[in-house]
Parts: sequence; C-alpha cells; structure tokens
Amino acid sequence: IWPLMLDSLKNVLNELSFETWVKPSKPISLENDQLLIEVPTPYHIHYWNKHIAGKFVEISFRLFDQEIIPKCVVPEELEEQAVAPKKAAPPAPKPDPNNSVLNPKYTFDTFVIGKGNQMAHAAALVVAEEPGSIYNPLFFYGGVGLGKTHLMHAIGHQLLQNNPLAKIKYVSSENFTNDFISSIQNNKMDEFRKEYRSVDLLLVDDIQFLENKVETQNEFFYTFEELYKNNKQIVLTSDRLPSEIPTLPERLVSRFAWGLSVDITPPDLETRIAILRKKAEAERLEIPDDTLSYIAGQIDSNIRELEGALVRVQAFATMNNADITTSLAAESLKALKSNGGAAQLSILQIQEEVAKYYHISLKDLKGKKRVKSIVVPRQIAMYLSRELTDNSLPKIGADFGGKDHTTVIHAHEKIQQLLEKDATIQNEVSEIKNLLFN
Ligand code: ADP
Ligand code: MG
Repeated sequence: IWPLMLDSLKNVLNELSFETWVKPSKPISLENDQLLIEVPTPYHIHYWNKHIAGKFVEISFRLFDQEIIPKCVVPEELEEQAVAPKKAAPPAPKPDPNNSVLNPKYTFDTFVIGKGNQMAHAAALVVAEEPGSIYNPLFFYGGVGLGKTHLMHAIGHQLLQNNPLAKIKYVSSENFTNDFISSIQNNKMDEFRKEYRSVDLLLVDDIQFLENKVETQNEFFYTFEELYKNNKQIVLTSDRLPSEIPTLPERLVSRFAWGLSVDITPPDLETRIAILRKKAEAERLEIPDDTLSYIAGQIDSNIRELEGALVRVQAFATMNNADITTSLAAESLKALKSNGGAAQLSILQIQEEVAKYYHISLKDLKGKKRVKSIVVPRQIAMYLSRELTDNSLPKIGADFGGKDHTTVIHAHEKIQQLLEKDATIQNEVSEIKNLLFN
C-alpha cells in the first residue's frame, strides 16, 4: 500500500512538502482502516492532520476502494504504547499473508535471463501482466534447481506490485494435499474451498508430487475448473511434462494442455557466470571475474548448487581471513567435487549442528522454551534452514516442533537484523556454516 500511496501523494503535493513531511514518515501498522504512521516530530503530526490526511483518505479510496485514515505518531509515543502494560501494544506490522509465503528474493529483478530460461521468463512476464487471459494454465517444467520456483514467485510479486489487493496463493502440491486432508478431518472443507477458489493467482509447485489419491486429485481438478472458468490464473511446475507424470490422471493432463507448457533447461556457462556475478553483487562480495568463471565452470547443471558453491567459497575465505581468488575457490571446492556435488543440506542436519554448537539439546532447540540461550540458537537454525535449504516456510515451522510459518519469518528477520549489527552473531553464524559445509 505504502509505495503506491507515496507515488500518488507525490503528484498532489509540491516537491518541498513531499520531501519535508511525507518522505521521513514511516508506516507502522494497518488496523481496520487506520494506518499508524511514525513521523519524526510533532510538527509533522500537525501538518499531516491539517494538509495531508484528507488527500490521503481520498487517494486510498480511489486506489483501494477503501478509506484508509492516517494516524501519525512520534517515536516516543510508540515506545510508550509498547511498554505501557495496560494499553495494548501496537501490533507489529503484519506481513501481508500473500507476501509472506512468496520468497522476497525470488523476483524478476534477481532473475538472470539466459538461453535455457528465456522462453519461460517471457511467458512468466506476460502472465504477471495479464493474468488469466492468455496462457492459462502456465506450466513450467525442468530439472531441479533451474529456477521454476523462482519464476513462479516472481509472477506473484509482479502481480502484487500491479495490484496490491490481488489474492495470491502459493503451495507445493504436498501442501495442497495436507491442507485438503486436514480440512476434511476438521470439517473445514467450506473454508478450504473458499480459500483456494477465491484467489486471483494460484501457484502450485512440483505437481509431480500431487498425491495419487482419488479425493485429492478430484479436489484439485475442481479447484482448477473453478478458477479456470473465472479466468483466474494458474501456474504449475513439475520436473517433467504433465503427460509424463504417471500419477497424474488423464483429465488433468488434458486440462494442463489448454495452456502453455515451457521447459527450462540448464544454463550455459555465460548465464552461470552472470548468475554468480549478480549474486556476488547482492551479497557485496568482491570476486574477480576469472574466479567467477572458474566457479561457474565447476558446476554446470544446477543453479542451487552454483549458489551453494559461492556460499562455500565465501565461508572458506572468511574462515581463512583471505580474499576470494581463483586458487582459494579451487581449494574450497575440492572437497565438493570429490564427493560428487554438494549434497542438499537437510533441516535436521542444520538443527543438529546448531544444537551441538550451542551445547543445547535438539529437543530444546525444537521446543517452546523462551529463554534467550535457546531462543537465539533456535532462530539461527530457522534462519539457516530458510537460507540453505529448499524447504517451504510451513515445512520448516513443522520441523521445529510444529510452529507456524510466521514464526519462521519472524526468526529469519530477527537474525538478519542481528547479522547486520552484531559481530558475535555474524561470527557464530559463519562458523556454523563452515561446520555444515565441511
Ligand atoms: P527449481 O524450483 O527449478 O528447483 P529454484 O527456483 O528453487 O529451482 O531455483 C534454485 C535457486 O537458483 C534459487 O535460489 C534461485 O533463486 C536460483 N536461480 C534459479 N534460476 C535463476 C536465474 N535465472 N537467475 C538467478 N537465480 C536463479
Ligand atoms: Mg522448485
């Protein structure tokens, strides 16, 4: 909401007012129709109330069909509210449930286009701009770690940017199955259907794992039919063509053929170098070109492994307190090659390593104790599970003693913040990474 509001406010205020009064303001939370905004001084509150609030409400109504009323506060008031035991603490800015399941890193911006994914990328862009109208369903297929999930999320992000109120649902086919089964068990089928059939964009990942049970497949079929009928966009991925998935019933195979299927093939060397370069830039790593080429030459199929190699080289450099060079890269990747490629880390491996590192039990790590000596390791383990494995948020939550995916998001953010300012945590996390990769 905020960026869109800013854009419109920019148009109705002169530049100076905008820079002075709006720019330093920060949205805190949205509750019902009230948007809490933090401003630096009481003058801002005054100015907002007198000159901006009215426009704000008008714009919000025009943009979102809803009057959003700004309520400005200065930071001190916010803190008071937070510590005052009686007054309810202001709710933490709630991540949009849509956004929270989309990986913020998987956008079009971070996606490198190359020969193997050019078609898929173009189709994804079209679908993001014109959902439900041309390629429906859109089906990506190809090997592991080639960017199917990334592109799928990118469509979601783009659609949300164009239309912040769009309802988007991302699930793996396993999540779909689990959701379905627990809805039956809890007598919540109405909610399940409402949830899945009211979306503007449904993203179902790894459809090859759709359970081979009649009920699940029926439910999926009807969900598909309903969305398709209403011109809602569906995007699916799999490791192979629909017709090659033995467990997929014929009627689903034929439905999927109504849309567009595009394959993604492994990146060529040039693309791999470009991906590494982008990744290195994002992480602010200084890596000479010949070293990037060297790493890209070592790992030639899977982009996830390519990223893993970079992490490994980085960890190795930190550990040895050395710059990243080709010979350092060669050394750190030696072990990798001898055991035939980076094995995918599991959540359990991460949990075990973190528990060992902090001398706490695995049970505590996954448990509910709220003492700091356990909470921080737990958050680090969640953070690493999110960063270093391919598991979904709900899956990570589940593996930590059945916690909610929002807990994982919170932990991830928390550690990310700590990593920016706390040298001890930085050090500990990179040591744990080293242990994991060696
Ligand atoms: P898949 O779903 O096909 O198994 P993912 O979408 O999970 O693969 O991609 C694996 C990793 O590689 C992700 O971290 C993703 O961001 C990265 N990746 C894949 N393709 C690209 C690309 N073209 N540009 C940048 N990063 C990519
Ligand atoms: Mg995937």
